[in-house]
Amino acid sequence: MTISLPSQDPQLAHQTTAADGLAPVPMLSVVVPIYNEVESLPRLIEAIASTLQVSGLDYEIVCVDDGSKDGSTDLLKQLAQGRTDLQAVLLRRNYGQTAAMAAGFKHARGGVIVTLDGDLQNDPADIPMLVAKLNEGYDLVSGWRKNRQDAALTRLLPSKIANALIGSVTGVKLHDYGCSLKAYRAEVVEDMNLYGELHRFLPALAYIEGARITEVPVRHHARQFGKSKYGLGRTVRVVMDLFTIAFMKKFLTRPMHVFGLWGLILMTTSGLVGLYLTFLKFGRGQDIGDRPLLILAVVLFLAGVQLFCFGLLAELLMRTYHESQGRPIYRVREVAGPGSAKF
Ligand code: UDP
Ligand code: MG
Repeated sequence: MTISLPSQDPQLAHQTTAADGLAPVPMLSVVVPIYNEVESLPRLIEAIASTLQVSGLDYEIVCVDDGSKDGSTDLLKQLAQGRTDLQAVLLRRNYGQTAAMAAGFKHARGGVIVTLDGDLQNDPADIPMLVAKLNEGYDLVSGWRKNRQDAALTRLLPSKIANALIGSVTGVKLHDYGCSLKAYRAEVVEDMNLYGELHRFLPALAYIEGARITEVPVRHHARQFGKSKYGLGRTVRVVMDLFTIAFMKKFLTRPMHVFGLWGLILMTTSGLVGLYLTFLKFGRGQDIGDRPLLILAVVLFLAGVQLFCFGLLAELLMRTYHESQGRPIYRVREVAGPGSAKF
């Protein structure tokens, strides 16, 4: 028996049962953020639906309208009224791609989630291949636009640098972090909190949570309609986000180990300089009042104390972060044996 769409019960929707006791095939949710893509929209929905119907996957499309101003909102609503496989989530205003994707994840009911752009640059025909790869035992399969159809200087070059940077900082070496076409097991994104423009770092965030990740080459087309919502400024924001991710990866559960350590190092250096100056003053009878070294000792001491206290504050914040949300500091993949439960 297959539970048909749209299912009202999110519990059931997460695991559709297959006939004859075969392994359950999870339902697939295709999440698409939409911001001013009115011309692409009907073709996109058609392309996704026809691919997935042919491949026989049990699916739903979750389109999130991110406060479009070009009529995408009304069109999407209209399309959703005439179809059983389309959920339209309409945001009140433009929040940005990350928020739109987060809204899509929240409303997706499938056990597998595929994301792609709403501008037809990603090819829905690649979806079955991504899902098949996921079923080989991965938690996240990322698309790689091997033959990317975007401007070389303003898009491809910054992207290459960003990918190399992100790869080396996070330890997840992917060719193409920026590719929206990705497949996830729902658990991976379920309790992930996304802020700013962090959707680009989903593989890194998933890796921090212990996900198994791989990438596959996918098709990519030049933008046919509308225009890109991003400019060069994105590269700068990516670099700043990278600091957040790097910090989260290493020290999210132990900030005192970074700030406290540096605080101690600075205070110790200050102490040594101070001892040396004390020796000069009282041992040698030299005047130390106008020595730059004295200023250095004082500055190092103050900076050290501040870093140390900052570390303590960060510890408190981190505990609030985990405890207020009931977020464990670990993730269990599965529990085998009697009475096993997954959480
Ligand atoms: N998008 C969105 N909200 C925004 C900006 C973009 O939902 O504020 C959507 C947009 O409609 C598209 C996807 O995010 O489906 C990627 O945007 P775009 O194609 O402009 O990015 P690019 O492909 O140029 O990197
Ligand atoms: Mg695009």
